Amino acid sequence: MLKISKCPKLESMSDALLETGSVPHEGAAPAPYDVLVIGAGPTGLACAIDAQNAGFRVVLVEKGCLCNSLYNYPAHMTFFTTPELLEIGNIPFPSPNQKPNRQEALQYYRQVAAYYSLDVRLYHRVEQVTGSDGSFAVHTKDRFGRLATLRAAKLVVATGYYDLPNYLRVPGEDLSKVMHYYDDPHPYSGLDILVIGGKNSAAIAALELWRHGARVTLVHRGPEIHRHVKYWIKPDIENRIKNGEVTAFFDSQVAEITLDTVRIQTPEGPVILRNDFVFALVGYHPDFTFIESLGVHSTGPDRLPVCDPESLESNVPGIYLAGVIVAGKRTNEIFIENGRFHGKQIATDLTARKTTRQFSAS
Ligand SMILES: Cc1cc2nc3c(=O)[nH]c(=O)nc-3n(C[C@H](O)[C@H](O)[C@H](O)COP(=O)(O)OP(=O)(O)OC[C@H]3O[C@@H](n4cnc5c(N)ncnc54)[C@H](O)[C@@H]3O)c2cc1C
Repeated sequence: MLKISKCPKLESMSDALLETGSVPHEGAAPAPYDVLVIGAGPTGLACAIDAQNAGFRVVLVEKGCLCNSLYNYPAHMTFFTTPELLEIGNIPFPSPNQKPNRQEALQYYRQVAAYYSLDVRLYHRVEQVTGSDGSFAVHTKDRFGRLATLRAAKLVVATGYYDLPNYLRVPGEDLSKVMHYYDDPHPYSGLDILVIGGKNSAAIAALELWRHGARVTLVHRGPEIHRHVKYWIKPDIENRIKNGEVTAFFDSQVAEITLDTVRIQTPEGPVILRNDFVFALVGYHPDFTFIESLGVHSTGPDRLPVCDPESLESNVPGIYLAGVIVAGKRTNEIFIENGRFHGKQIATDLTARKTTRQFSAS
């Protein structure tokens, strides 16, 4: 078990809060934590800080490293956002750059977690939650397969969306040369690379790969590069396409991937291209199976989880949702810039319940 550190000043708060009426689950010991946050991304960290600042005893459980999604972003990526919009916990994000890079962001969030002495259990995946409001049991598995249980009165689920790629569901997608995450351009220099997608990730990957000597083809099912692609990236990729430096097929879909080729269905008919590697960058989605296993209902085609827009409490009393998962499949609606405020909403609700003695189930 790895712990960032422990906050001595908060040692006695849990007991005090639990006396406000926490009812242990049948046969279970009283919840030792007031709030357990699942996921230590920027949102989870913000939620933990806000709850801790409101006087609750908080623990975070994270299946990977701190800010695991950001850690797995492309090695040389630059954020789209200026540093102050990535700030959490009222801690300034100093950066000499107008837009910080991944290393800076990771350093920033590490320092914030340390500053607040957050109790983070890294490399512990939450597999199952039992119990109910006031006494949840959170069952975890560590990287060696060891099981553990943590108990908490309230849960905040901030599990993000970057772990599950959207699949094309075409023959050959399971070949090892097909990747759903882009990292570094160097290994692909001098090779025939297909990039699938028409948004920021696909455009950035295509540009970087081309600039590092790959022969790049871009395939997008839409009629053009997506209008939401950032204003400094869009003209760059469009000009590369216009100049014939990156080949692009719009209104087109990949039909089949083989060891040495890709077959693309274009408006002019099928095209077969030589191919060494494929980057299918068509988005990611939250782990709906996990979220629904908690009893949280989803609605509509975008699988929007049911939650109160003010408090962010889900239809399951005591389980709050935070960050990008609140938007279901619409993962481009909530990001760090706005998800970082979810912690305040949740802490406000937790505080109101504490003062009205409704903190836990009665
Ligand atoms: C390349 C790229 C660039 C981006 N640039 C920007 C930007 O400039 N500005 C911006 O605001 N947004 C940006 N975003 C989006 C932003 O990074 C995400 O919206 C944000 O990380 C969401 O934060 P989160 O805390 O909700 O989720 P995440 O950061 O994904 O954190 C969720 C955490 O939960 C953990 N987890 C998941 N399941 C479990 C489990 N069962 N048990 C324990 N832990 C679990 C994960 O390991 C992860 O660490 C970018 C995204 C990408 C892909």
